[in-house]
Amino acid sequence: MTATRPQPRPGVLDIAPYIPGKSTAPGVAKVFKLSSNETPLGASASTIAAYRAVAEHLEDYPDGSVSELREAIGAVFGLDPARIVCGAGSDDLLNLLARAYLADGDEAIHTTHGFLVYPIATLGTGAKPVVAPEKNYTADVDAILACVSQKTKLVFLANPNNPTGTYIPFDEVKRLHQGLPPHVLLILDAAYAEYVQRNDYEAGIELVATSENVVMCRTFSKIYGLAALRLGWMYGPAHVVDAVNRIRGPFNVNAAAIAAGIAAIRDNEHVERSRAHNSRWLAWLTEEIGKLGLTVTPSVGNFVLIHFPQTNGRTAKEADAFLTKRGLILRQVGGYKLPNALRMSVGTEEANRLVVQALSDFLGKTA
Ligand SMILES: *Cc1c(COP(=O)(O)O)cnc(C)c1O
Repeated sequence: MTATRPQPRPGVLDIAPYIPGKSTAPGVAKVFKLSSNETPLGASASTIAAYRAVAEHLEDYPDGSVSELREAIGAVFGLDPARIVCGAGSDDLLNLLARAYLADGDEAIHTTHGFLVYPIATLGTGAKPVVAPEKNYTADVDAILACVSQKTKLVFLANPNNPTGTYIPFDEVKRLHQGLPPHVLLILDAAYAEYVQRNDYEAGIELVATSENVVMCRTFSKIYGLAALRLGWMYGPAHVVDAVNRIRGPFNVNAAAIAAGIAAIRDNEHVERSRAHNSRWLAWLTEEIGKLGLTVTPSVGNFVLIHFPQTNGRTAKEADAFLTKRGLILRQVGGYKLPNALRMSVGTEEANRLVVQALSDFLGKTA
């Protein structure tokens, strides 16, 4: 039968629309947004200055090859700039990789509580997302490998993962890579790599450098504090870089993002300060929330996943409503198959203390 109106390609209407973190609490004067893993320290002063300077030349197209930023990233990480592609956020790159490598009927694997952009990017191409079970809220290499079929083209792995905050050690990432057939591209999404302080963790640079089927995606949205500008980058084998460059928008990264990104990647002091703030308050939140009797999944990122009981009056939904009334905005994660948990980004000292006090009051109230 002929359709009576235009129809999106198969898969598109199977996508559950992405619901971003809330940012308002009606009627509350002072709001602490802890729902999108943004940094409480903001962008560095040098980054903001570089961004402002772009205002003088808004008439000019940006450099479509993003050379200066790729060179700056290459210098900081010791990488060949020719093997770097920049994008309008790492979302852009994840979608470009999906478009470049997936077609109708193909499969892309992600884990149960994996980042929601993966199924969205996959379904948008007409391919099928295949969900590998996790163990203890953590990616399970054997379970991922068991999902691989002739149709598998991509494996998405957020390491550390959002919203769980868990990671797998480099040995495990290597074991995953070794178990994959050579035609499968492993996408290591290391959006929170700068926050991780574990000796057995690697974002993936070495694996990309030594193989033909691994890419690593990074973002400026998190520790660098540039979420508003939409900027990310990937490092990959030359043939993957070539494929992505052919389909990306010729000016997919804007001039303000380029200028700010160059300043941000060079401002190591700001990164160190942000990392130190995060380490201190991540540990504090994990311990203090744990003392209240709530389970916190051990996190290596800049956020914690807090599990609530299913008892009436104590649920995650009710906690969210209680906190929101105090201007403390956390993230419901039902969309991540975690209906009994809330995700909280590490905030300022003030915000962190207010959340712990509020959770204590919430749990202490008569049911
Ligand atoms: C925040 C986040 C990103 C970054 O997305 P951008 O588009 O760069 O803002 C990527 N992956 C994961 C898992 C994230 O949590």
